[in-house]
Amino acid sequence: MTCGGFLAARGRYSRRVSLPPAADHVLALDLGASRIRAAVVAADGGVVTRREGRTPGADGPTAVVTTCIELLTAVRDEAGPAIAAGLTGIGLAAPGPVDPRSGTLVEPPNLGPGFRDVPFAKPIGLALGLPAALERDTHVAALAELTFGAARGCRDFLYVTVSTGFGGAIVIGGRLYGGPDGVAGELGHLVVDLDGPRCGCGGRGHIETVCSGSGIARLGTEAALAGRSPALAARLATRGPGGLEGTDVAAAEEAGDPVAGAILDRARAAFAAFIVGLVDVFAPERIVVGGSFAAGQGERLLGPTRDAVNETAFRIPRERVAIVPAALGDDVGLVGAVPLLALRRSGARAD
Ligand SMILES: [Zn+2]
Repeated sequence: MTCGGFLAARGRYSRRVSLPPAADHVLALDLGASRIRAAVVAADGGVVTRREGRTPGADGPTAVVTTCIELLTAVRDEAGPAIAAGLTGIGLAAPGPVDPRSGTLVEPPNLGPGFRDVPFAKPIGLALGLPAALERDTHVAALAELTFGAARGCRDFLYVTVSTGFGGAIVIGGRLYGGPDGVAGELGHLVVDLDGPRCGCGGRGHIETVCSGSGIARLGTEAALAGRSPALAARLATRGPGGLEGTDVAAAEEAGDPVAGAILDRARAAFAAFIVGLVDVFAPERIVVGGSFAAGQGERLLGPTRDAVNETAFRIPRERVAIVPAALGDDVGLVGAVPLLALRRSGARAD
């Protein structure tokens, strides 16, 4: 070691000793189709500073990467120089599929055209001067629930998220299962209806098409346009060109509209059948259900699902499994940066 290197190493060491809390913070970023969220997160999962911005997907990949860098820079600066000096890395969550080894966005269908094999971790890491690790958002969420949330203590569990889309992650033996390419576990694209609607991925009748905010919105809009539901047509008339949202259909059900009720009954029945299948295939200890649609439905979704599992799944897995709501809400994609970076530092791939 040269003298300069020794001094530099001592300099780093003395900073860590004098500022112990700063050494364990990370930068976190959650890239979504409509929002980008950034934060500084402490080792215990506490969010120190946060910022949020619109995802400029229509402006292309360069604009998205630039916005990510701006938000991360802002939360780092807001956290103050002591914490900024002790940051250990950047954990990035993004819609799948992603390549965690090269740090690229492979072909996310919901971000917009032009997002194919986009370098993501490398330009962000270079701009912030920190090592950056990229994982699929549902994988980051599963790591977060495993470390800080509803899957603590589990070695074998499934994470399912039902919001605008439908996603999932598989954890086996305490490790994310990604298969040989890191892309396994796209649970939202299991078929629940052979003759069902087209999915955004090109397939047909996937659970995302009948049990997700976007799928329910589309079914509700079709019912309104076909004249089957005056209540949904009235809500559609107040909406812009984007049509109904899933929450409109849920509100119409609450108000007593039978067509909206039928759409949501079918969504809940599809979800229950889907979960029974997962219980029989994986025999997990737990299934953690997250996402804004699932949170809005609460026990209306989980209660009938548990009943279906108890009535129709195989005995040994049904007696073991617990089907529980996620614990971390909207922050799940941010606090998962802590275990993601810990995994990468240990030399292991997250999957
Ligand atoms: Zn699909």
